[in-house]
Amino acid sequence: MYASKLYAPTLREVPAEAEIASHKLLLRAGFMRKAAAGVYTYLPLAWRTLRKIEAIIREEMDKSGGQEIAMPILQPSELWKETGRWAVFGEEMFKLRDRHNREFCLGPTHEEIITSLVRNELRSYKHLPVLLYQIQNKYRDEIRPRFGLMRGREFIMKDGYSFDKDEEALDITYQSMYDAYSRIFTRCGLTFRQVEADSGAIGGSNTHEFTALAESGESEIAVCSKCDYAANVERAELDVLHMEEEQDKTLEKVSTPQQKTIEEVTAFLQMPMQKMIKAVAFLNEKEELIVAFVRGDHAVNEVKLQNAVGAIALTMAPEAKLQEYGTVAGFLGPIHLHKDVIAVVDASVMEMQNACCGSNEVDAHYINVNPKRDFGKVLVKDIRLIQAGDPCPHCGAPVTLTRGIEVGQVFKLGTKYSASMKAVFLDENGKEKPFVMGCYGIGVSRTMAAAIEQSHDENGIIWPVAIAPYTVVIVPVNSKDTAQMEFSQKLYQELQDAHIDVLLDDRKERAGVKFKDADLIGYPVRITVGPKAVQENDIEIKFRKTGAVHHCKPEDYLAFVQKYIAQETDKA
Ligand code: ATP
Ligand code: MG
Repeated sequence: MYASKLYAPTLREVPAEAEIASHKLLLRAGFMRKAAAGVYTYLPLAWRTLRKIEAIIREEMDKSGGQEIAMPILQPSELWKETGRWAVFGEEMFKLRDRHNREFCLGPTHEEIITSLVRNELRSYKHLPVLLYQIQNKYRDEIRPRFGLMRGREFIMKDGYSFDKDEEALDITYQSMYDAYSRIFTRCGLTFRQVEADSGAIGGSNTHEFTALAESGESEIAVCSKCDYAANVERAELDVLHMEEEQDKTLEKVSTPQQKTIEEVTAFLQMPMQKMIKAVAFLNEKEELIVAFVRGDHAVNEVKLQNAVGAIALTMAPEAKLQEYGTVAGFLGPIHLHKDVIAVVDASVMEMQNACCGSNEVDAHYINVNPKRDFGKVLVKDIRLIQAGDPCPHCGAPVTLTRGIEVGQVFKLGTKYSASMKAVFLDENGKEKPFVMGCYGIGVSRTMAAAIEQSHDENGIIWPVAIAPYTVVIVPVNSKDTAQMEFSQKLYQELQDAHIDVLLDDRKERAGVKFKDADLIGYPVRITVGPKAVQENDIEIKFRKTGAVHHCKPEDYLAFVQKYIAQETDKA
């Protein structure tokens, strides 16, 4: 490709709404343009990168026994009503009607379609396992579309679905997808972790997220400083924290006028935070009051709490609701709480002794609280949010907290969809059984953005070689100089013949402008053809990643470039 022909309009000014590097750079470097909030046109450079990511995904999926299909984006509501997800997806689903007033949606995901596909055709255990996948646009009316391709409303996803005869067989398929994903993201040049994630109602350690490490990421993960344990903070399990044992003292109610927050009570009673019992009040979707109790220096993990009480959603409880149940904000406590309140106590709270908690009366707290002795009927669960320094649940070493971008997820679905949609097969004994399913997603467009978040500098993008739109850019210093252009064209031809993606910057711009654009767009290799190349056969090669400059003769520059490409892409 010649740069003079390339449709890649660069921008001097980026719209103020672009907050993170990938969003800014994709706009500035002429990779994409916005059509509506969370909806973009991919220009040629972006499309080339996306197709390279897709090619890596296809290769690894096919190698793992996957078969590519293409399911409809337009999906009838009936299937979604079978699983109950028409209502569950709610506002996030793009819904529409046809001329006969029949309801449809634009596919946010495809479990319903694929389950309905196999339920009439895949009949025998002999045909299992089956692994089908597709790469296609998905539609989700996200509340807050933002960060460019990170959270779009139309985005590219690879979604795969597996059908197995039993749990053991699913374990094998799941592991093979896990391994394929690890290879895919390694080959794409990402630094990532396989992260244990929350699987909500299904439970167990049935899902992993593949998280590209980046400060701008929306996921917070806990990573062990010693072993390879990593978990989404929503999920990270925690052992009970034991405290030094002491003599139980007699429960006492003390006056604490106006002292509502943990900090206020701590200061007022001169007790450490570790002796405080903190209460946080929520409402579930049925408007029932749920109060979570954790140690004063801990925080409530809402996802764990939601799972503990089997809620679909939790919101903060308004003060008026507390009054209805005979208690009061700032003085909420687990002792003598209204019997209809669902009290959930973190397991570590049960280990506390001579602690302090609210009394459910204005301006009073209990001290010398001994949960095992003083709490009535409460639900005891791990509902604590992991903090930096907490012990790793696998090896005990301290964990650190870091941020990342979820680029993929693998999930053991079990029979959730096959049971509700009656998708069954005949097993070895001729008995009908629901398929045991798994699903496997990759955010293709998000992966492109994640690569930029991880790899850029003040001058622009630094593409990993495997997914760069062009691997090499040839820059004739003076495009009006015939000798330089001819020299460049010869290199261009040789690189093309060697199947290397190459762009020739033939634009009649100053060299400085072309260098700046090369850095902005982020081609991994820049070959400069100036007077020295023409007169002395001295070709300058510069690597975008390291900034290192090398000089080669025409007879050996190609091998040099090929070696670099091989080095950078021979991964996984
Ligand atoms: P998130 O928690 O970020 O909303 P999700 O759990 O809803 O993601 P999945 O349903 O697991 O996402 O979709 C599979 C993959 O698709 C995700 O791992 C992510 O990489 C990508 N993805 C999901 N939502 C979006 C979006 N709005 N824009 C771009 N990519 C997305
Ligand atoms: Mg997810």
